Amino acid sequence: MSGGGGAGLMRETKWLRFEEQAGGMSNVQIVCPECGSEYGHIREVFTRMGEDAAEAVVYKGTVARGTVEGERRSAVAVVFDGECGHAWELRIQQHKGTNWIDVGPA
Ligand SMILES: [Zn+2]
Repeated sequence: MSGGGGAGLMRETKWLRFEEQAGGMSNVQIVCPECGSEYGHIREVFTRMGEDAAEAVVYKGTVARGTVEGERRSAVAVVFDGECGHAWELRIQQHKGTNWIDVGPA
């Protein structure tokens, strides 16, 4: 069951695990989107460039690598190596003034 209600927000995904505590949700754990393993290591962080030359920037402390299709602004990419053998990329993407996280292949 998805639980429904609210604004249609999901409380769990294949790659995020919410640790509920009294008074509301607290810690959020990033897990492998392939197998759910919780053991992994951050490999690198970089900027994926947006398509709009005026809006896309390289975020401070990162280097530019690759692009994000269909997005004007750049995304921050964090690559994880799971101890399970899978690797994945978590992205923080600004879209129309709001910020979203998603995962994809590394
Ligand atoms: Zn895995």
